[in-house]
This record gives sequence, structure tokens and C-alpha cells, in this order.
Amino acid sequence: MPAHDHSPLNSWEARAEEYSLYGFTDLPSVRDRGTVVLTHGEGPYVFDTNGKRYLDANSGLWNMVAGFDHKGLAEAAKAQYDRFPGYHAFFGRMSDQTVALSERLIEVSPFDSGKVFYTNSGSEANDTMVKMLWFMTQAEGRPQGRKILTRKNAYHGVTAVSASMTGKPYNSLFGLPMEGFIHLTCPHYWREGRADETEAEFSARLGAELEEVIAREGADTIAGFFAEPVMGAGGVIPPSAGYFQIVQQILRKHNIPLIADEVICGFGRTGNIWGCDTYQFVPDAIISSKVLTAGYFPMGAVILGPELSARLQATIDPVEEFPHGFTASGHPVGCAVALKAIDVVLNEGLADMVKIGAPRMEAGLREIAKHPNIGELRGIGYMWALEAVQDRATKTPFASDLSVSERIANTCTDHGLICRPLGQSVVLCPPFNLTNEQMDEMCDKLNSALNAVFRQVA
Ligand code: PLP
Repeated sequence: MPAHDHSPLNSWEARAEEYSLYGFTDLPSVRDRGTVVLTHGEGPYVFDTNGKRYLDANSGLWNMVAGFDHKGLAEAAKAQYDRFPGYHAFFGRMSDQTVALSERLIEVSPFDSGKVFYTNSGSEANDTMVKMLWFMTQAEGRPQGRKILTRKNAYHGVTAVSASMTGKPYNSLFGLPMEGFIHLTCPHYWREGRADETEAEFSARLGAELEEVIAREGADTIAGFFAEPVMGAGGVIPPSAGYFQIVQQILRKHNIPLIADEVICGFGRTGNIWGCDTYQFVPDAIISSKVLTAGYFPMGAVILGPELSARLQATIDPVEEFPHGFTASGHPVGCAVALKAIDVVLNEGLADMVKIGAPRMEAGLREIAKHPNIGELRGIGYMWALEAVQDRATKTPFASDLSVSERIANTCTDHGLICRPLGQSVVLCPPFNLTNEQMDEMCDKLNSALNAVFRQVA
């Protein structure tokens, strides 16, 4: 492939590189290949400035589940911009759309009653939840109750608090995590299970670890336990069998709130409205974002169940205020879009499409996963990962300098398919309204890219 040409500052790619900073981007790849500058979308496809079309098998960043040209969502935004284009939720005022969305979110939540607080992103929603927990433990005469439990490989965001919750090595580059953020073992049986251990025994061992950590740290020092039902940016890792039942029981015994980070799983990705429905546990609060607006507006939400709502209210009452909020919390356009997105996902059949399409997606990927250099295919619903290995029997990964997953993703991009490299895995999480033909296109393009790369490296 010819090296990417940087010279003319009038090209989109050169202008991007000259003036824009890139988040989570392998810069040598950008230097070699250039930036893909996108202009518009149609269904699950996006188009670059050269008119090239890509099937986005990552739904943007897990969020564009209704595709890139859903008229109803765009019209809901336009109608609300015409009616009332912006407002906050401070000083005893909020928009009617905000009121309506909170009501709707509690209605579709696993909770009989509860309260909702809005943010602009998933990271801020996790930050907000942690601040709520600290606010409560402080007021309850338990100022030591600040520790937060999460898992290695978890992804909860990038702000200083949510990055501290994220169990990824790159956070050490920022001197994170902050004190008091504890990362437990990732519930990935294929990678973390011992040779002589059944999946049930593995889950029990993780339960014993949680008990040990609580005993060591002191239950009174722990503010909450956060978990994605299926870890997303950790490489699509469904929990080991029985994991959440074991964890939930231990946390309940010690009065430690369990917060489900449903930023990816929420609103249909696993085949049910919530990931906690799929894995049959009831959290004390839910963190939502992404599919909440089908990606058509930046928004996050903290959805508190009845116990945490009551605890928070009891904390607020004496000080008469929860001193927290963002300028755009509960933005009326975001709320109108979210109301429409929930309707589209639940009532226009998008969630059902995941249920119906998931066996086809799994079957297509299982065929691909027969390749001897695929160690594991894992996932559920419309979120899957294929992990590459040099040796399947020993699960030995490829040398990291071979950048196998990046090569696969780059080859896919060349062929008009966007998928995401994550560690040694390739992740696929398409829009919910993919047709059968588009699903087959996704599998065919992935298969040929993967075979081409394995021929080079294996
Ligand atoms: N939590 C989970 C589970 C996520 O996957 C993400 C983002 O991918 C976040 C939180 C952070 O959300 P945001 O990128 O909107 O800050």
C-alpha cells in the first residue's frame, strides 16, 4: 500500500492531522493510512469524503443502533429545537421533556420507583453516581466509605473518577487510578479460569475474592460495586455462569450497592432491554447512555432504584440541595430524542430485531471462528468478539508487535467494513436494524480480511 500522502494541506486528511487531536487512536496507523473523514450515513453505512462506503459494524461507538439516517429521530430533534431549543435543570426549573423522560425511564427500568439524574455522557454519569455515593456516606457519618470496587478490564469512562474505575493499564500514564479504586478479577472464564477449574468453580472463586477484599478493606469503607453486565470495551466479555448471582448475594449481605453500568448493554444490545435482565440480577442503580438517544444526542443518565433514591433524598434534606449538575443536564432536545429513541427501540421493533437476528449473527461468526487462529468467539445479542491466538490449544497470543487485530480491522476498512480491534480481539456490534444481506456482507468481509491477515502472520 502506498504511504499516505500528508503534503497538500487542502485535503481533508491533512487538515484533520494538522489541527485535530485524536482520542484512542493508533497514530502510526493514521500516519500510514490517513484519517477516514466521514460526511454522512445511510442505514448502517457511513461514507467518507472520497465517496467510499463502509458498513459500520460497530454502530459508531455501540450507540447508533437505528443507523445513520433515522428520520423519526432527526425529526424529534428538529421539532424540539423549533419548540424549545435548550434549557438546564437547575434552580427548580426543568423542561417538560425532562419530566417526561424521567417518568419513562423509571417505567422501563427494573425498578418500581426511582429517580433520574442527567449528564452529557456515560463517563459523567459514572462520576455522578460515585459523587452521590460519597455524598451519602459522608452525610451518614461514614466518611471513610469512599472505596469503589470494579473489575480489571472494565471500561467506565475517561473522566478522572470513571478512568479510575476503568481497569485498563493505560490509566497509569495519567497517574491513575486515584486512591480507593479497587479492581477485582475479570470474570472471563476462558482467559482467567484455571486448567482444573469448572466455570461454576471459577465464579465461586471470584465470589471468594470479593468476600476477601470486603473483609480486608472493611465493608464500611466501600461505597459501591460497579459492573457492566457484559464488559464491552474490555473485549466483549460476558460474565461467567452464575457470577452476578454470587456477587449480588455477597454485596447484599454487606449492604454494598451494586450499580449496573448499562452504557453499552442498556436498551437492547444483549437481546433484552437491560443487560441485568439478561443475566437475571437487580441492581441498585443503572448508568445509561449511548443507546439512550440512539447516538443522536450526547446524553447520560443515572437511574436510581427506590433504596438509593430514598438514601439520597435523606442526605439532601438537611442541606436542602444536591450541589451537582451540568449546564446541559436534562437538555430538552436530548430528552425529546431519548423519548423517541426509547420508542424506536422498544415499540418500532429494534430490540426484537436483536433477539431475532442474534442466532444468525452467532452462526455466521461461529463459521469464521473455525479458523485455527481464533481462540475464542464470545458474546451475546448483537455484541461479539473474536479473539486471535497464535496457538489455540495453549491460548498463546500473537506477538503484540504483529498488531494482528489492527491489521484485521485495517483490512476490513480497506474492504468497506468498520470493526474494532481491542487487544487481540476484533469486536462487532452492528446497528440493530441490520438486514440479513447486510449481516452476510459483514460476515463475508470479516472472513476474507481475517483469512488474508492470518495467511501473512500465522
Ligand atoms: N461505561 C461504559 C460501559 C462504556 O462502554 C462507556 C463508553 O464506551 C462509558 C461508560 C463512557 O461513556 P462516554 O464515552 O459517553 O463518556
